Amino acid sequence: MSNVVALITGASRGIGSAIAMEFAKAGVNVVLNYHRHALMAQRVAEKIKDKYDVDVLCVKADVAVEEEVEAMMNQVVDHFGKIDILVNNAGICRDSLLLEKSVANFRRILDVNLIGTYLCSKYAAKVMLERGGGKIINISSTNAIDTYYPESCDYDASKAGVISLTHNLAREFAPHILVNCVCPGWVKTDMSDGLSIEQIQEEENKILLHRFADPEEVAKVVLFLASSKASYINDSIIRVDGGKLNN
Ligand code: NAP
Repeated sequence: MSNVVALITGASRGIGSAIAMEFAKAGVNVVLNYHRHALMAQRVAEKIKDKYDVDVLCVKADVAVEEEVEAMMNQVVDHFGKIDILVNNAGICRDSLLLEKSVANFRRILDVNLIGTYLCSKYAAKVMLERGGGKIINISSTNAIDTYYPESCDYDASKAGVISLTHNLAREFAPHILVNCVCPGWVKTDMSDGLSIEQIQEEENKILLHRFADPEEVAKVVLFLASSKASYINDSIIRVDGGKLNN
């Protein structure tokens, strides 16, 4: 996949940095978007440059802010001249008791996870369409489909919205841009780091493989969807959750 450019949002750590590493290993030039952790994004970039012969660009942008997303796309086009693949991975989760949630926090979850996915898709699609097409891969969650805990009702709603958005983007941009969605179950990242040992055991007991995923196990599926091997996969919602009891 040489001469291909992929923008991965939220690539400073977790699943996003694993996707960037997998893409770079496959010869893809990568743009690492980050929000708060510039140093972490730079470390990912250095690791990629040390190991692989690809170009890497780090770009700071809050995906929830339209002006910042537009500026990020312009920066990518100035540097690479195009965007072939967009991975909408940036996401946040702030669990709290449903009755104690503030509207501001609920809105922030929707803004980053759902509006951010919309904004990045909108501005990347404009660039892709000018050059014939591309691919968009959205990272949702099994929380969009299954119900876990009411504490994450805002997160679940945002991720359900990402699935709906995937279907609409696929319709809008076919046949030029293929749009797919990956729904991970539990993955070992900072996002799942706050669970107690008891909670981890309880959740692992519901997974047929009895363990959380490594970020790389999600990243490899995203790479497959981004590759020419997935040329007839469009508008699909793909679970990467190890199989779950009582779906
Ligand atoms: P993580 O380790 O918490 O990393 C989140 C990433 O998103 C960071 O790179 C962060 O950048 C970035 N980010 C957060 N807010 C942003 C914003 N406003 N603008 C741009 N970037 C922003 O999370 P993760 O576990 O890797 O999750 C990645 C994606 O997978 C998310 O969409 C998440 O919902 C989804 N997912 C995760 C799991 C899981 O169990 N971990 C399961 C299902 C789905 P900074 O560090 O620079 O702030």
